Amino acid sequence: MFRNMARRPIEKTETYLKYGFVITEHKFHYCPKCKSVLNAGPNHTPNYCSRCGQKINFSGVVWTKDRELGFG
Ligand SMILES: [Zn+2]
Repeated sequence: MFRNMARRPIEKTETYLKYGFVITEHKFHYCPKCKSVLNAGPNHTPNYCSRCGQKINFSGVVWTKDRELGFG
């Protein structure tokens, strides 16, 4: 059944304002099925999407550190 197959998350690097003023580059991981953002990190990889229940396979994912680009 395809429904039970683990899928790789969608990786997307985006910037956000940390503390409200530090422009920070962060790699987000999205559910390949419902496209909601997964709360994942090197020490925390959810096995399932908390929204739609899609099984997620994080093996092979390269974790990159947040990069501060400057002040907004
Ligand atoms: Zn999902």
